[in-house]
Amino acid sequence: MARLFGTNGIRGVVGREITAEFALRLGRALGPFFGGGTVAVGTDTRTTADVLREALVAGLTASGCDALLLGVTPTPALQLFVARRRLRGGVAVTASHNPPEYNGFKVVGGDGMDVSKSDEEGIESSLATMTFPEIAWDRCGRVQQDPGSNALYVDAILALSDTAAVARRKPKVVLDCASGAAVHTSPELLRRLGCSVTTLNGQPDGTFPGRLPEPREEHLTELCRTVVDVRADLGIAHDGDADRAVFIDDRGRFVHGDRALAVVARERLRGKPGTVVTPVTSSSCVADVVRENGGAMDYTAVGSPIVSRRMKEVGAVLGGEESGGLMFPELQCAKDGGMAAARMIELLVVTGRNLSDLVDALPTYSLARRSLPVPAGSQEAVATKIREAVAGEKVLTVDGFRIERPEGWVVVRPSGTEPLFRVYAEGRTPGDAESLAAYGEGLVKAALG
Ligand code: MG
Repeated sequence: MARLFGTNGIRGVVGREITAEFALRLGRALGPFFGGGTVAVGTDTRTTADVLREALVAGLTASGCDALLLGVTPTPALQLFVARRRLRGGVAVTASHNPPEYNGFKVVGGDGMDVSKSDEEGIESSLATMTFPEIAWDRCGRVQQDPGSNALYVDAILALSDTAAVARRKPKVVLDCASGAAVHTSPELLRRLGCSVTTLNGQPDGTFPGRLPEPREEHLTELCRTVVDVRADLGIAHDGDADRAVFIDDRGRFVHGDRALAVVARERLRGKPGTVVTPVTSSSCVADVVRENGGAMDYTAVGSPIVSRRMKEVGAVLGGEESGGLMFPELQCAKDGGMAAARMIELLVVTGRNLSDLVDALPTYSLARRSLPVPAGSQEAVATKIREAVAGEKVLTVDGFRIERPEGWVVVRPSGTEPLFRVYAEGRTPGDAESLAAYGEGLVKAALG
């Protein structure tokens, strides 16, 4: 059976993979999955949000769930709302960082966390078999509006923040909302936190006219320039559903997600050791900082829902992934752009240091990546041969193979969605990274014969 869920929800191009009919069927499948009760439904700002939400809600209510419509809200706000209101679950209609023609669905359980892999598989198989029982007329669900998730979210973050300390220094922040869901939360959050805020792309617009919703360096040139022009302390950019925040330092430089995670980890572990959870592909700069400060690293398979669940299991103090998805368990074990923004600002105020200095103090590493197509259906056989070949190495097998060497590491893992292996290597020098990537590539090629 083809997988519908990717590493973080169901996504596709609207009119191709994602249609109103699909949304209706998904709602029908989710009704029995949630087993009735109230399900929150929120969206980002995409132009296809209305049609997909309406179809999804028709399916949910036809299957006996009540739907609570939150309107446009960040995914982490929806997650917090579901958990705090003790709802049965939630669905975010969003394609996160994808371009405007995409949309999709993130399914959240009653604990506010992304549903587990096995739950995803259950939903996929009930969609594939299409056995949705009809329910009696008097058991169909009802639809209500509740626009309270944005306020609940902003208030919850502020309750965990030292607003007095921030207000005393009044840091200057340039905030780029991408015209996505953050427009309804982050500008207010940062102002009430005590910052002086300049907002870019602050109007909701699902065509994303200012920039594409993925907060990559090449999409953020206006933000970087503005940070320098207004002499801001930092820049912050969200993706379409604001579960991610990436940072621009006070010199207008893009900060890689792993380096932001390392900066936060160092501050968080100081005097209070704990566990930090990240996927196996995260940079050694995180591990270096965590170990230096007496903390422990816990590596998971790639995919933020997996990091979230692992954080809860081990009682982690912090989690995150390279794309700028930071997770703070004091609020919720979920990627959270608003929390990331607030915690980073507070960190700058508390340390009294510039973000550029904090980032420049981290060790630097070089990356190399490869994608290697393999014949369809051969991934398992290839993996078995690689396992034999790396038997003598220091290897972690939580997702594919992460082989550690003194000069760096290489991860060789099968793609979850395509017939290929991905190779990620990181070394102390560009040469180290390249030779580790070549080693990883060699493992796949040798296994293919
Ligand atoms: Mg996102």
